[in-house]
Amino acid sequence: MTREGIAGPEPAVSVALCIKCHKLTDAPVAVRWIESDSGPGATLYACPEHAVQLGAGPTPGDVIR
Ligand SMILES: [Zn+2]
Repeated sequence: MTREGIAGPEPAVSVALCIKCHKLTDAPVAVRWIESDSGPGATLYACPEHAVQLGAGPTPGDVIR
């Protein structure tokens, strides 16, 4: 049996749009999570620089209201 196109664990996103400066970064840091009633929700990313400003760290279970 062969697994076509599968080469090990799928990496996290390698490129994402920074929610702050709206530029593509190749080192995205997850900074926000959007919860959804009908799905797994979505993760928002920022470039490393803005991730610091936005305060990367809160996890889905540690949302600050
Ligand atoms: Zn940025």
